[in-house]
Amino acid sequence: MRIFSGIQPTGSKHLGNYIGAIMQYVTGQERGEALYCIVDLHAITVAYEPAELRRSLYDLTALLLAAGLDPERCILFRQSDVHEHTELCWLLSGVTELGRLQRMHQFRDKSVVQRELVSAGLLIYPVLQAADVLAYRAQEVPVGEDQREHLELMRDVARRFNARFGGGREVLVVPEHRIPEVGARIMDLQDPTRKMSTTGGSEEGTVHVLDDPGAIEKKIRRAVTDSGAEIRRAPDKPGVSNLIEILAVARDSAPAAVEAELADARGYGELKAAAAQAVVAMLTPVRERYGELRGDEGALEAILARGAQRARALAAETLADVRDCMGVAAPRRVQPLR
Ligand code: ATP
Ligand code: MG
Repeated sequence: MRIFSGIQPTGSKHLGNYIGAIMQYVTGQERGEALYCIVDLHAITVAYEPAELRRSLYDLTALLLAAGLDPERCILFRQSDVHEHTELCWLLSGVTELGRLQRMHQFRDKSVVQRELVSAGLLIYPVLQAADVLAYRAQEVPVGEDQREHLELMRDVARRFNARFGGGREVLVVPEHRIPEVGARIMDLQDPTRKMSTTGGSEEGTVHVLDDPGAIEKKIRRAVTDSGAEIRRAPDKPGVSNLIEILAVARDSAPAAVEAELADARGYGELKAAAAQAVVAMLTPVRERYGELRGDEGALEAILARGAQRARALAAETLADVRDCMGVAAPRRVQPLR
C-alpha cells in the first residue's frame, strides 16, 4: 500500500490540520509505504513573502517530525526538490477540463480574497495536486473533508489519462481518499459554520498546534456554542458538535462516549474545560519536541534532501512511463510498464 499526502508550508498549522491530516500521516507510517510532501509550490499561488515561505517550510518540517513522522519510516520531502511534479502537472493539464477547475470551491473561495492578483496558478492548483499524488502511483491519500473535491478531480484525471494514453493499462493509479470518520472538518471556534483554516478564519477561533496551554484554554473557553444546554451533536448545534468531536479525538475515544459521559453536565462549561484539557495534553508534547528540533535547520535540510532523493527515484519511473505513453521526449529503450 502506497500512501501520499501534501501539506502547505503556510502560516502556522492549526488543530484542523493536526486532526484531519497530521494524525493520519503518523498512523499511515504503520500501514504502508508513506510519502509526505511539503508543498511549497502550492503556497506560491496566493500572495506571499519569499523569506517567510522559507521560514515556514522549516517550521512545518520540524512540526511534522515533532508530531511523530519518522524519516526512517516515511519519505518526508519538499515538493520543489522533485521536478517531476511540475513536469507531470503540465502533461496532465492536457487531460484536465478547464471548466471543472473554474468551478472548484477552493478556487472560488480563495480567488475572491486575493486583492492584487488572481494568479493562473490558483486555478491550476488541483492539477499540480493531482501530479503530486499520481507521480507516486499512490493508492491512498489521507486528507481532510475539504479536499474531497480535489481528490475527485485527480481520480478523473488519472482515469482520463489511462483511457486516452494507457492502451488499456492502468498507467496511473486511481487513488482513494482517506478522510477520518471523526475530525474530518474541524470548525472555527468563533464561527462553527466555517472550517478552521490557515487563510480564512479568525485568530480567536483558530487553535494553533504551537499555541501555549493558556492560549488554547482561552480560545476553547470562548468558543461560540448555542443557547441550549444539551451536550449532543446536531446540525443546529455546530459549535457543540465541533467541541464534542475535538474532545473525542484528543482523548482517542468516540463522540458517542463523550456525549454519554457529559449527559448530566449543566451547561457547556464542563465540555469546554474537558476539551481544553484534552487538547493541551495532546499538543504539549508536540510543542516541546518542536522546540528541540526547529533550531537545527541544517538537520532539517538533510532530512528533506534524503527524502527528495528517495521520492525522485519513484517519481522518475512514473514520468518515464507517462512520457512514453504520450509520445513526448526520447523513447525509453526498455518499457518495464507494470
Ligand atoms: P488553507 O486555508 O490555506 O487552504 P489549510 O488550513 O486548509 O490552509 P492545507 O495545508 O491546505 O491547510 O491543508 C493540509 C491538510 O489539512 C489537508 O489534508 C486538509 O484537508 C486538512 N485540513 C485543513 N483544514 C482542516 C480542518 N478544518 N479540519 C480537518 N482537516 C483540515
Ligand atoms: Mg487547504
